[in-house]
Amino acid sequence: MNKLFASLPTTVFETMSQLAREHEAINLGQGFPDDPGPDDVRQAAAVAVYEGWNQYPPMPGLPELRQAIAAHYARFQQVELDWQQEVLVTSGATEALAASLLALIEPGDEVVLFQPMYDAYLPLVQRAGGVPRFVTLEPPHWRFGAEQLERAFTPRTRVVLLNTPLNPAGAIVAREDLELLADFVERHDATVICDEVWEHITFDGEEHCSLLSIPRLRERTVKIGSAGKIFSLTGWKVGLVAAAPPLLTVVARAHQYLTFTTPPNLQVAVAYGLGKEESFFTGQRERLQAQRDRFAKGLEQLGLKVLPCRATYFLNVDIAPLGLSDDVAFCAQLVREAGVAAIPVSAFYAEEKVTTAVRFCFAKADEVLDGALERLADFVRREGL
Ligand code: PMP
Ligand code: GLN
Repeated sequence: MNKLFASLPTTVFETMSQLAREHEAINLGQGFPDDPGPDDVRQAAAVAVYEGWNQYPPMPGLPELRQAIAAHYARFQQVELDWQQEVLVTSGATEALAASLLALIEPGDEVVLFQPMYDAYLPLVQRAGGVPRFVTLEPPHWRFGAEQLERAFTPRTRVVLLNTPLNPAGAIVAREDLELLADFVERHDATVICDEVWEHITFDGEEHCSLLSIPRLRERTVKIGSAGKIFSLTGWKVGLVAAAPPLLTVVARAHQYLTFTTPPNLQVAVAYGLGKEESFFTGQRERLQAQRDRFAKGLEQLGLKVLPCRATYFLNVDIAPLGLSDDVAFCAQLVREAGVAAIPVSAFYAEEKVTTAVRFCFAKADEVLDGALERLADFVRREGL
């Protein structure tokens, strides 16, 4: 058996969702919205299942979806893509990450990772033979500086894996920090895999800046996206890769032996959805922002310290002011005794763990958020927190 996978535990998302079911807890752990998602996009999928083509689509994705992806990013991110040579459809961002890492890493190559990092990153890097070099980010601002990059980059650095907006932090990497990173990437002749799945879920008028829109990174960036996040349909697992032809070609080679293709009916629906009017995307943000504000206010009224959240579905509570420093124990107690599931942020670190942040998903109906706040209020009172 492969030692890496044989020694891995079940992911924190699966574990917490399972515990939530066992304890009949309100599940604010794993990140998924509780509404059914946009009607017309689901309708487009249903029609395509019933009336459309359900055999293998082309390996790189349906032409109509690849064209829609190119048009979407030209419209929203000022990125011009050649849909035939620079766009690939994958089975979720997860497959896009796996294909990109397998394609771009040779055993022994160093990969710069920013922690907290999405749980799939490290095992996928290691399975590809990559050697991780960590940059550790900390609340409340989760920023990196030149000194940290200086320590992480070496002559063996080949790939940088960045996530912006950042899950679980709810942070957006500042433009000046992206420029700083670009200096290092250029100097080391490296490639950046940029996980931009949260690109549309930004708040307070902030805009996502794609690495592909930074001229000196245009040929060095592999951008990853996910329709699951763009349309709040997380189970769909339709992802995408956008990159310059020399990079995309080799990522596509890896993709063709991972999943080869992605369900064509969902591709048709995503192509339709990407062409929706701007108000759909702004409306979705406004709804999520209102949910964020409702939940943040409720937590603050309980005396809890809420960290800033500028993007994603996630709010973090700083448990240090409660005199606590074990986020895993706190989440275990919360799911059992409060009946609310959350995610310990330390699960997103490999070393130098931040153990005082707890992540809650607020992409839920008002009554679900209010129900969770009531349970948390009882818990806080009982525990004397
Ligand atoms: N990257 C990040 C940062 C994520 O948060 C997620 C899922 N929430 C993924 C990748 C996986 O996306 P998908 O479900 O499209 O595989
Ligand atoms: N990305 C989701 C989260 O951060 C979970 C995805 C998963 O369960 N693998 O909660």
